[in-house]
Amino acid sequence: MRVVVLFTRDLRVHDHPALWEATRVADEVVPLFVLDPLLLARSPNRGRFLAQCLIDLDRSLASRGGRLVVREGDPAAQAAALAGAYGCDAVFVTEDVSATARARERRLREALAPLGVELRTCPGNAVVEAGAVHPSERTTYRVFTPYLRAWRAHPRRTVLPAPRAVRTPVDVEPGRLPHPAAIAPTATDLPPGGEGPARRRLRRFVADGTGRYGDLRNDLAADATSRLSPYLRFGCISATEAAAIGGGADRSGEWIRQLAWRDFFRQLLHAHPWMVARDLRPHRAVRTVADDRLLDAWAQGRTGVPIVDAGMRQLLHEGWMPNRARLITASYLTRTLGVPWQEGLRIFDRHLLDGDPANNAGNWQWVAGTGVAPRRGAALNPVRQAQRFDPRGDYVRRHVPELAHVHDARILRPWVDADLLAATGYPAPAAGPIT
Ligand SMILES: Cc1cc2nc3c(=O)[nH]c(=O)nc-3n(C[C@H](O)[C@H](O)[C@H](O)COP(=O)(O)OP(=O)(O)OC[C@H]3O[C@@H](n4cnc5c(N)ncnc54)[C@H](O)[C@@H]3O)c2cc1C
Repeated sequence: MRVVVLFTRDLRVHDHPALWEATRVADEVVPLFVLDPLLLARSPNRGRFLAQCLIDLDRSLASRGGRLVVREGDPAAQAAALAGAYGCDAVFVTEDVSATARARERRLREALAPLGVELRTCPGNAVVEAGAVHPSERTTYRVFTPYLRAWRAHPRRTVLPAPRAVRTPVDVEPGRLPHPAAIAPTATDLPPGGEGPARRRLRRFVADGTGRYGDLRNDLAADATSRLSPYLRFGCISATEAAAIGGGADRSGEWIRQLAWRDFFRQLLHAHPWMVARDLRPHRAVRTVADDRLLDAWAQGRTGVPIVDAGMRQLLHEGWMPNRARLITASYLTRTLGVPWQEGLRIFDRHLLDGDPANNAGNWQWVAGTGVAPRRGAALNPVRQAQRFDPRGDYVRRHVPELAHVHDARILRPWVDADLLAATGYPAPAAGPIT
């Protein structure tokens, strides 16, 4: 028996149910990745990270006797063509929730049916898959706390080892892996993609960070979160394995709770694929107006509000931002500047290595008050947020070099001193001083 394993956002060999099952039932396995040029163009940062992930995956497969086969174009059409051309009996794929992923699965099923090739979907992208838990009267949880209760009570999948051997047929033309150096990212300081780096990062976080996460996760200067999000985004580590390994050392339970947020937004996107563009609760929406000048200032980290600019500049340099900075910058854009959340989501999606439809839209809507937050809530005051989460200004100093030499309280409110603004070239606040 020959099986194609179509890799998508599951770029690993450990705890990979589809790959595991394929190596168990088939004599030969064709591990396939299809490069979609449209997706690559959306975020060069993610494009480069993806290219590194694929090299890492190819090495892992090679060390087990196999290899990664690469094609370009529409994943459904390419997978079906490959299965047909090489006489494969089935295609295995990991379930996913976005509209794009589900349309791909539908097209793949349709393309395989006339060839008599089976399509098998397997779990693997979540701790608790979308639809596995739901309230008695509905298909989806809209409130997090009851979801968390159900999520915690739901039995976990057993973590699978990497298969010992993967035999890829020798007659399959391997295609060309993309070259990371050929993709120019917009950020200069990106972590390496791949399962190897993901596993090392998780081990380091468990050794140094999980225990203090509950106390420090919102402390912007401490940088005490796992930074695993890009690896979870591309499935370089499975959320189930991350929960099993990270959960053991997570005294406060706060870290595991974040993984539950991830699954919460996944089940929401599964039920409401349009939430990437439209308000989940339109009646809650506050009037917003597209304003290119304010949006540009925000996107470039030049709003004149240091804590906001520090977050946005970290995003530009690292393709990543801690959750607290995302909350502050998103609240400032939507609630203070009055710009629609969809504009902010688009900028985040371009730069974030972890850019993901469920988490990005779910969180933007949460901040804008159009999503599933139980109350509408108010704008976060960025000065008060800075006083609480970056009281010494260390995070601002790290990311806003013009202010690196300001060693007093003015660093959080530089507009109080016109001479300071003139001397540093730091802008006056685009939307007026914050009181
Ligand atoms: C406006 C806005 C946009 C966001 N966009 C994204 C996005 O596109 N992709 C993305 O992965 N996260 C997004 N987040 C959620 C969160 O900020 C990041 O997941 C987190 O900062 C990643 O850092 P970490 O890996 O160190 O997280 P940790 O604190 O170590 O948490 C572990 C994991 O839990 C998950 N997680 C943590 N916080 C959240 C959350 N609020 N919602 C859902 N999952 C969470 C992530 O997978 C994360 O890697 C967004 C948050 C906001 C406020």
